[in-house]
Amino acid sequence: MIGLILSEWAIYYQVCFCKRKTLSISVNYKQEVEVRAPLGTSWQEIEDFVQDRKVWIERKKAEFYAHYSKIEYQYVSGEIHYFLGQPYRLIVYSANNNQVRLKETGEENRLYLGVHARSCPESALYGWYRDQAKLIFTERYYYWLSQAQEKLMIAPDLTLKFAIKRLKSRWGSYSTRGRINLNLELIRCPQGCLDMIICHELCHVRELKHNKNFFNDLSCLYPDWQAQSQLLARLSMAY
Ligand SMILES: [Zn+2]
Repeated sequence: MIGLILSEWAIYYQVCFCKRKTLSISVNYKQEVEVRAPLGTSWQEIEDFVQDRKVWIERKKAEFYAHYSKIEYQYVSGEIHYFLGQPYRLIVYSANNNQVRLKETGEENRLYLGVHARSCPESALYGWYRDQAKLIFTERYYYWLSQAQEKLMIAPDLTLKFAIKRLKSRWGSYSTRGRINLNLELIRCPQGCLDMIICHELCHVRELKHNKNFFNDLSCLYPDWQAQSQLLARLSMAY
């Protein structure tokens, strides 16, 4: 294993030299990074190759982390749940309808979750998250779509749709059929993380791969994307 210190975080990776023509990189579910390199590749070439993919690596690691180490919530009073990056202590009670009331006090924010007898706390909370996501994601999505049309000149008449899904291991995705999926869990994260994921997926309209053109577009559309990616990677441990 070699440690490589990148500007703000370290990436450790293993290099395997073998009979092949090009460099490749993979991240496994244990968040280990492996580079496969043709015999005779220089260390500098390998380092450059890894540097160019550092965001992709962090994203993959965060996805695996989110997938495999997800906190097992019980949805009982006392637990901490998040909304737009803010922690709230959950207070569950029986009610005639599923409902949520937020109380933001100086000391501790609370999320009062009223649950109907035929429902359960998890569906009550996620029903509310979904309602909030529909409003907030829609507003942010159309804002960034207009920014992308202006700054990146992506098809101005684009009838690009987005959907909100509870994805297991990705924050967002883009399909060539012109649909963007956003993970409902983003409603737990600060708005900057949501903005960054929306911009990331919008940049895939013009470039499917995570290559230089893609990151140039992303930097143009959302210059703070690196800080937000790091934040999201850290947060996936807490959420
Ligand atoms: Zn991507």
